[in-house]
Amino acid sequence: MLNLVLFGPPGAGKGTQSENLIKKYQLIHVSTGDIFRAHVSNETELGLMVSKLMAEGELVPDAITISMLEEEVDKNPDAKGFVFDGFPRTVPQARELDLFLERKGSKVDGVIALDVDQTELTKRIAERHKTSGRPDDDAHKLQKRISEYFEKTIHVLPYYEEQGKLTKVNGMNPIETVYTDLCAVIDSF
Ligand code: AMP
Repeated sequence: MLNLVLFGPPGAGKGTQSENLIKKYQLIHVSTGDIFRAHVSNETELGLMVSKLMAEGELVPDAITISMLEEEVDKNPDAKGFVFDGFPRTVPQARELDLFLERKGSKVDGVIALDVDQTELTKRIAERHKTSGRPDDDAHKLQKRISEYFEKTIHVLPYYEEQGKLTKVNGMNPIETVYTDLCAVIDSF
């Protein structure tokens, strides 16, 4: 199994790169943001519970996010591995992911953090907002998401760094260059 965490702030390119990586390595893409959005648009019980938090750019509580993630992984018992995109976003989520994979005799093989500066992130999301229809891509909500990232999510990096699993890739480069760099890192696992 190959389990990869693709890490980075909103607009870093995690979704775009995940789509390419899953094709090459035949992995399953698990984007917690996409799954939450599907629940919101289908107006499921979970969707109704999280829609306000998401629209405000705030994180969904860990317990809810973790159980949803586990359910998603369990739906794919024959998977060759997973690309986790947008998860874990807190240290408790990272710990739970380790324990969950350990119970399956598996582990996180590597974590790649896409480095993009704040000016570029704001520019990219403003561009995406024109077509995404995402209320949280609005400039004001984006600021909240970026501050959630720097208050809560950034602490996940030292967690993986201490395990020797973290590699940083320059996410400011063109999409193709970032993709080549990501493949080189994955091939070295
Ligand atoms: P994303 O598409 O990854 O930017 O996620 C969109 C929104 O979904 C976030 O702003 C959060 O409200 C929620 N969300 C996605 N993943 C997580 C997570 N791992 N933990 C908590 N909330 C999450």
